[in-house]
Amino acid sequence: MHVIVLGAGVVGTTTAYYLSQLGYRVTVVDRASDVGDGASFANAGQLSYSFTDALAKPEFLASMPRLLLGKEPGTRVRLTPALMAWGLLFLGQCTTKRAEHNTVAVLKTAMRSAELMTELRERVPFEFSHRRAGKLVLLSDQAELESATASSRLKNAHGSDTRILSRAEAVTIEPALEHISDKFIAAVYSQNDEVADSLKFTTGLRKWLEEDGRVTFRLSSTAKKIVARRGRAHAVVVGDDTIEADAVVVCMGAWSSRLLRTIAINPHIYPMRGYSITLPSGEASPTVSVTVLKHRIVFSNIDGFIRIAGFADFAGFDTSADIERTRSLLELAKRVAPDAASYDSEDIRAWGGFRPMTPNGQPLVGATALRGLFLNTGHGMLGWTLACATGHDAAQAVLRTH
Ligand SMILES: Cc1cc2nc3c(=O)[nH]c(=O)nc-3n(C[C@H](O)[C@H](O)[C@H](O)COP(=O)(O)OP(=O)(O)OC[C@H]3O[C@@H](n4cnc5c(N)ncnc54)[C@H](O)[C@@H]3O)c2cc1C
Repeated sequence: MHVIVLGAGVVGTTTAYYLSQLGYRVTVVDRASDVGDGASFANAGQLSYSFTDALAKPEFLASMPRLLLGKEPGTRVRLTPALMAWGLLFLGQCTTKRAEHNTVAVLKTAMRSAELMTELRERVPFEFSHRRAGKLVLLSDQAELESATASSRLKNAHGSDTRILSRAEAVTIEPALEHISDKFIAAVYSQNDEVADSLKFTTGLRKWLEEDGRVTFRLSSTAKKIVARRGRAHAVVVGDDTIEADAVVVCMGAWSSRLLRTIAINPHIYPMRGYSITLPSGEASPTVSVTVLKHRIVFSNIDGFIRIAGFADFAGFDTSADIERTRSLLELAKRVAPDAASYDSEDIRAWGGFRPMTPNGQPLVGATALRGLFLNTGHGMLGWTLACATGHDAAQAVLRTH
């Protein structure tokens, strides 16, 4: 049995791992020359098992006028028919009931992912800067505190372990917070959240899978078309070749829609661009992962380097503002946490990636209407966190039908 996995990001590579463990022969196809070249390249690295809160919620509606008027520095919006079509579906999810449902659904997947990650780490011995760092989300006002308290209560009722801390308690856990210049009044703490390098993971897993012999990586190869015959996907056109398969799993992140539309499937995935900057540590670098909720920026300590990530741009696949946006992110981080990183270092790596966003924040995992075609895509802001659970589930979906 041969399965083609389209996309060699963290999701595709993890899917290949679980398929290979079930005994399938797997070919992973990616247009890039190496694995992890898309959103998995330099994300914030947080295995955010407890912070699964949906982006689509009533508070988002309240912030809409400022977003559309360009008054939120963390977001750039370019209204196009594609964004409006996706946006209408997204707005439909911005009710309290839907937000709670989506948050809990993703939480359950994330908690399974945590268990599967532990198992995978025991079975597959390679280093990817994994650490149980814990995570602190800083709350700057009463409204944020009330919303976070309600969310924490909801998630804890479903098995999560988050605590609301006073400012003083948060500083005891992470002394570097003394150096945060923005005032915060409280924090949400999750001691179980982890941090690790998703690129190192993807690269290390590829190497292990190739050595294991059941998975072949066909890189620098663009998937052009899924070929269907008699209601079944049976091949993929890759470059000038047609590769036959018993099953095809689409793991192409933000680019999934383009290919799927050619076979009349619209997964409603929008590319939401975010940025990261990686710098050497500063005089007061946090070791716990820190999110400043007001600015939606995160600080992760990976291997002694500080990775600062954030922003949410809705401007299609446009990358023309990358230099300006990463500069703004750097300036914001410097203002908020002046001692967290060596901001003047020459060793600075800036990056942008497209988060594959579904309207409800839940990934699309499993069989499609076309027999033999499966999805594992649309992981939005949490693809690294969810990769083990959804890779496992996608492989199980293939097993159920093959
Ligand atoms: C700034 C930022 C910070 C983030 N922080 C976190 C975090 O802390 N924790 C977390 O859990 N998640 C985080 N995320 C989200 C996470 O990075 C993504 O959800 C995840 O990487 C998606 O993985 P993927 O494998 O689905 O997609 P990708 O990594 O984008 O992979 C898709 C692959 O498909 C390939 N491809 C596209 N078209 C074709 C084609 N036609 N033929 C062949 N190959 C093709 C691409 O080359 C690419 O390699 C962050 C994202 C960003 C942008």
